[in-house]
Amino acid sequence: MRQVCFGVDIGGTTIKMGLVSQEGDLLEKREFPTQRDLDAAFDDIASNVRQVLESFPDDLCVGVGVGVPGPVLEQSLVQGCVNLGWGDVNVAQELGRRVGLPVKVENDANLATLGEQWQGGGKGCRNLVMFTVGTGIGGGVICDGRIVAGATGGGGEVGHLPMPFHNEWQCSCGKYGCLEVTASATGIIRAAREHAPFNEMETVTAKDVYDAAAAGDENARQVVDDAGSALGMAAAILGCVVNPEMVLLGGGVSAAGRALLDPVEAAFKKNVFGPCGNVRFALARLGNNAGIYGGAALFFTQGA
Ligand SMILES: [Zn+2]
Repeated sequence: MRQVCFGVDIGGTTIKMGLVSQEGDLLEKREFPTQRDLDAAFDDIASNVRQVLESFPDDLCVGVGVGVPGPVLEQSLVQGCVNLGWGDVNVAQELGRRVGLPVKVENDANLATLGEQWQGGGKGCRNLVMFTVGTGIGGGVICDGRIVAGATGGGGEVGHLPMPFHNEWQCSCGKYGCLEVTASATGIIRAAREHAPFNEMETVTAKDVYDAAAAGDENARQVVDDAGSALGMAAAILGCVVNPEMVLLGGGVSAAGRALLDPVEAAFKKNVFGPCGNVRFALARLGNNAGIYGGAALFFTQGA
């Protein structure tokens, strides 16, 4: 009998869920708005789980792997999710009794990293670091095939590594000078806005800055170099700890492709401890589905 598993990615506005086979095929995907009321949101997930399973009567569903935007303890207990307006919730228990299946929970960024390691850009790697560069910087660390979540669920928060750039800028987490304030899309735009022509433009996107850098604009070049240097140094620091086979870059800014990868890789090579330097840099591949695959991987690859 084929084994299947649900991956559920609970975001602030949308819940994405999919049924994934043990071979890594996404069999069905659904999206619906996240209800503000916790019970209503769980009821939505449960009814969709039941509906989807009706179409797969010959398969054995082994569980539901859930990603949430906050720290998670022991793959079950969520201690506050600001984006969702949640306090302390035992998601494994609350959702588990509704769906009648085992439920495991992880931080969404860690889960996306696991998904990429299982079926995406990091397939086949046992040791992997991912940076998801968008409005902020998320990501995660996979060590010897397992998510590093740490003692209080805060492991893998790679966007909040303190970096020696823009130490006067406050991060969304309250600290100053996190990787995120320099290398996220928000940080890139903020830095660009200190210079012409960006200071006079009504809207600026990270792509505008990368395009201007490619076209030879010196200020844009500097901003893009700083972002690449910060990411490369962060990768070098993690490299000395994890000694990964691969560093993956995902998120909206990764649409810049080699223009993002090359300076990151150069800064990594300059800063990393030699024996940890043999690392492949690549782009994430699963996009918005990474969390769904990661949810399924919680059951298929993470064992008991
Ligand atoms: Zn921070």
